[in-house]
Amino acid sequence: MSESKPKFLMCICTGQCPGFSKLNLWELINMIRGELDVEYAIVHPQLCVEDGDRFLKDYIKPGVKYIIGACDPTMQRKMFKDAMAEVGANFDSQVIPLDLRNMETEQAFQKVKETVEALNK
Ligand code: SF4
Repeated sequence: MSESKPKFLMCICTGQCPGFSKLNLWELINMIRGELDVEYAIVHPQLCVEDGDRFLKDYIKPGVKYIIGACDPTMQRKMFKDAMAEVGANFDSQVIPLDLRNMETEQAFQKVKETVEALNK
């Protein structure tokens, strides 16, 4: 188990992407922060563009575990690893990337829940 609880970060493709149309974002975030053993849960609208990079460089700390709910894990790795490396963090050892596209809210919540429980064991 890591020293602190994982932090949950949701990326929602500007809120316009059909891949997230079945998801109630605020219901999901409130369920995660209220019911799961995480430090906190936050939302960013679009991590894979320039201001997302700037946010990651500002926000990510070495050694902390992050669960990122967004798109395909391979794409997440490709898009986030360099910004993280610039601030001394490591995508592979610190991020658990989850693909939460095309899911109902409850289904996405269950996926995050299983991940948090496995991490906190
Ligand atoms: S990182 Fe993935 S989920 Fe987030 S805006 Fe980019 S494509 Fe969409």
